Amino acid sequence: MTTNIDFLSHLNPSQRQAVEHYCGPLLVVAGAGSGKTRALTYRIANLILKHRVNPENILAVTFTNKAAREMKDRIQRIFAENLAINQHGKKFDLLPEYEQTQLKSKVYRTIIKDMWCGTFHSLFSRILRWDIEKYQDEKRRTWNKNFSIFDESDVQSLIKEIVTKDLNLDNKKFEPKSVRYAISNAKNQGFSPQEFEREQPNYRGRVIADVYNRYQDRLSQNNALDFDDLILVPTRLFQQNEQVLAYWHRKFCHVLVDEYQDTNRTQYDLIQLLVTNGEERKHEWNWENRSVFVVGDADQSIYSFRMADFTILLEFQENFGDGLPDDDTRSMVKLEENYRSCENILQAANELIENNTQRIDKILKATRDPGEKIYCHQADDEIAEAAFVINQIRTLEHQNPELNWGDFAILYRTNAQSRPFEELLFKYQIPYTVVGGMKFYDRKEIKDALAYLRAISNPADTVSLLRVINTPRRGIGKATIDALVNASQQLSTTLWEILSDETSVHTLAGRSAKAVNNFAAMIKKGQEQITKVPGSEILQGILEDSGYIEDLQNQGTDEADNRISNVNELYNAILQFQEENEGEDISLQAFLQNAALSPNPDVDNSKEGQTAVSLMTLHASKGLEFPIVFLVGLEQGLFPGNRSLDDPSALEEERRLCYVGITRAQERLFLSHARERRLYAYRERAMRSQFLDELPEELLTTRNKVSRSFTKTAPAKTGQQETIESWQVGEKVLHKSFGLGEITHIFGEGNKVTVAIKFASLGQKIIDPRVAKLQRVE
Ligand code: ATP
Ligand code: MG
Repeated sequence: MTTNIDFLSHLNPSQRQAVEHYCGPLLVVAGAGSGKTRALTYRIANLILKHRVNPENILAVTFTNKAAREMKDRIQRIFAENLAINQHGKKFDLLPEYEQTQLKSKVYRTIIKDMWCGTFHSLFSRILRWDIEKYQDEKRRTWNKNFSIFDESDVQSLIKEIVTKDLNLDNKKFEPKSVRYAISNAKNQGFSPQEFEREQPNYRGRVIADVYNRYQDRLSQNNALDFDDLILVPTRLFQQNEQVLAYWHRKFCHVLVDEYQDTNRTQYDLIQLLVTNGEERKHEWNWENRSVFVVGDADQSIYSFRMADFTILLEFQENFGDGLPDDDTRSMVKLEENYRSCENILQAANELIENNTQRIDKILKATRDPGEKIYCHQADDEIAEAAFVINQIRTLEHQNPELNWGDFAILYRTNAQSRPFEELLFKYQIPYTVVGGMKFYDRKEIKDALAYLRAISNPADTVSLLRVINTPRRGIGKATIDALVNASQQLSTTLWEILSDETSVHTLAGRSAKAVNNFAAMIKKGQEQITKVPGSEILQGILEDSGYIEDLQNQGTDEADNRISNVNELYNAILQFQEENEGEDISLQAFLQNAALSPNPDVDNSKEGQTAVSLMTLHASKGLEFPIVFLVGLEQGLFPGNRSLDDPSALEEERRLCYVGITRAQERLFLSHARERRLYAYRERAMRSQFLDELPEELLTTRNKVSRSFTKTAPAKTGQQETIESWQVGEKVLHKSFGLGEITHIFGEGNKVTVAIKFASLGQKIIDPRVAKLQRVE
């Protein structure tokens, strides 16, 4: 590859300084959207092109899989553009499509494929696949390279078994969830069972250490690791085996970390070991052909619940750098211009974050035009909020040919909030993806709950029965299930026929007969209720009877809490369905047949190249950017979340999260809150978020009556402009003779617009608004 490094012209002087940095430590600190990730990716390109670094010698760590993919895409693009100029004398975009594809695949084969770019967990589990057989823990436990990675529910049941069966402990005193939490914390602080035990002054602590010890036995017997091990084990391995460390130290000459503010102590140890080869004396470090390059923003630290600690970022200068004052240092660069957001958005973000006390003030100047004001919307409830957002999206997309679905993002604080938005997107056949998570009806707990409901409404549905027969675990093993299924097949009958007959169960299920009969009785109870009580109550009943919710409550992890909220949201979905179809069929069957539940291939498998609206939690949005962002659910108790209302430092973390959310927006930002929200099955009045009041009033608007045309690039329009009324889907209007109605569709553009209006009494009509002289209604 030639060494044309034309791409450096796409950088400002400070970015260029960071990108051209070759060896030694460098910290890049800057606010959101200032081009930190750009500096990191361009630097990788520069290392390879200018300094001839082999891509295999580069380790680039990011925070999410999505961010890793984006990082690779960005690097691939830089190289492809460079090659286009050098090989074809043309800009990449001007090449025919097949040449673009060829170039990209060449870049992939020669560069991207060999680079180690990913999350901490993915990269270090790869290292473990290589070297874990050289690892032995303090009790000589070992693992081989085919190890499994246990997920949270595997871990929970293992710990529960140790607490209740092996040690026969009172599981009220030693709740498996809190024991689990203590063990995870110990691992995150780098303690082995023995080291942990030494720290314990009392009986309880020593018991937990014992559980930890046995838990490690079990993991090793199963040749399994948990998520925390993926960081802890390589750290330990590097500490105990000089050769292994030396190998990876030699290999990864250039270590780069994005979002460095969200690293925790063990992750830091790992980076430190790799970079220094375990040499503790700083003056002995050899920086020849070697570097550590980290970028971050302490104001965007949002993972303290996973032990992330932004003081690690603040200590970089001391730990690795020259520690000189800002004006003299060679190991730190600050970026002070924001390239992402229109000025109004940026200014709002800057003012919001100034309310935090635990921070270091920094400069972040806008480079873009002021843009539109931030639109702040109050909705009646969460359903109206979703309707507002989806209407805005449809209107904007419709009115602006240059916008596509991929330009929109909806950000929320908690996972379960996605449901009403998904339902409307589904209804209007708008493609969407849930970034870093699953679509509501694909989530495990929702599938479980629906399987219960399906089994009740249609007992012939063997797939659903099998899904929940032992979920949560109730001691019905695989052999028993096989015997039951087998019998039903032999007799050419349904599984339910067998399950619901006590005698057959008794014959086939042996020791688990009682558990099977209880399960069948529970389903039967639901069946008897089906014509008598609403679906929402059946769901509530079955979730209690089955112990499903209790099981999640016992787990007590954030993940389990999240699942509980999702199941509650399913309950809300049924309530909403019942309300919306009052007077019609609101049976459980009708709900289950509800279109939203059956996957639609057209919407689900968005066609090649088709873009989709992005939905995600604020946590998952870190590092990403979108032309139009909707930040929803800005209410006290939801965002900021309940737990932060009386905890100042948790509140500051929520504010950082809000800062992250606002700064994702490039052109337009919409904020919304509801007056009333059904959170846990009950409707509750909601208060607008204090964060809304912390934003400068002059940058906000609550009036969006005339939706101006959207321009992705320079907004300046020249020439005579006729004032054209523009209309929005969802707007209420008064027609002289038809009365009150709501706009449901808009056809055409400019002065050729016609609108479809749904009138309360007359149904839908298509109308030319200039002829009809429609009046807007508040
Ligand atoms: P975050 O803090 O959200 O992770 P960041 O600091 O990593 O943001 P980037 O994502 O690298 O910022 O950049 C933000 C946007 O600004 C991107 O669209 C990027 O392409 C653009 N950008 C960065 N630097 C420049 C520049 N010098 N000139 C023009 N655009 C730039
Ligand atoms: Mg970034």
